[in-house]
Amino acid sequence: MVPGIRLIVLGKQGAGKGTQCSRLSHHYVVPHISTGDIFRAATRSGSELGRKAKEYLEAGELVPDDIVLGVVAERLAQDDTRVRGFVLDGFPRTAAQAQGLQEILAPETLDLAVELAVPTEVVLHRLASRRTCSACGANYSTERPPSVNWTCDICGGEVVQRADDTVAAIRRRLALYEEETAPLIDWYMERDKLLSVNGTGHPDEVMERLVRAIDHRRQLQLAAR
Ligand code: AMP
Repeated sequence: MVPGIRLIVLGKQGAGKGTQCSRLSHHYVVPHISTGDIFRAATRSGSELGRKAKEYLEAGELVPDDIVLGVVAERLAQDDTRVRGFVLDGFPRTAAQAQGLQEILAPETLDLAVELAVPTEVVLHRLASRRTCSACGANYSTERPPSVNWTCDICGGEVVQRADDTVAAIRRRLALYEEETAPLIDWYMERDKLLSVNGTGHPDEVMERLVRAIDHRRQLQLAAR
């Protein structure tokens, strides 16, 4: 069996993080933890967390760091992540979250921070055509719809446009990415954890590129020990 991994994936909205994190989680047999999915599920269920997160999600704003860190600390305390690791999707998004993650993991550390690099014109096009299953979160697009009548191929849920995939919210989320999240790329580079991978092309091709780059880098890390 492949060894587990502790991985975070950075990238603009629409870079393909959700799709690739789900594949990476199957490949390395570790849980896929998406803070966006956790907040969307909480909003749907109407829980206290959902009530707190709802306005931020709809406006495309970041949920405050203390709330996000509480959610992640709770999830990473569960046994499945301790045994083999995790793929974190959409977290960290700010310097305070990156710092908080380091504290949550101590004395362990991340294995790698992968940047899925995609030009802004490409993500704008992908976000405008993206359609998402309202029940399980699977992604489709106007060019690659589900096989039957906007019903999810995986769970039968209704496939819709995400409430935060409007032009105004997309613009705001991309601006926040540049301001708050892009600086983390340097933060992880300085700590020798960053791996930047080209995220353009067919999802199968991107996945192959990711696994090749991750495994190569891990071999180098092991050899350096
Ligand atoms: P995503 O699905 O990753 O694009 O996340 C959807 C929304 O959830 C974001 O626009 C934020 O409102 C919120 N969110 C998800 N992850 C985080 C995070 N790490 N920090 C702050 N807000 C987040």
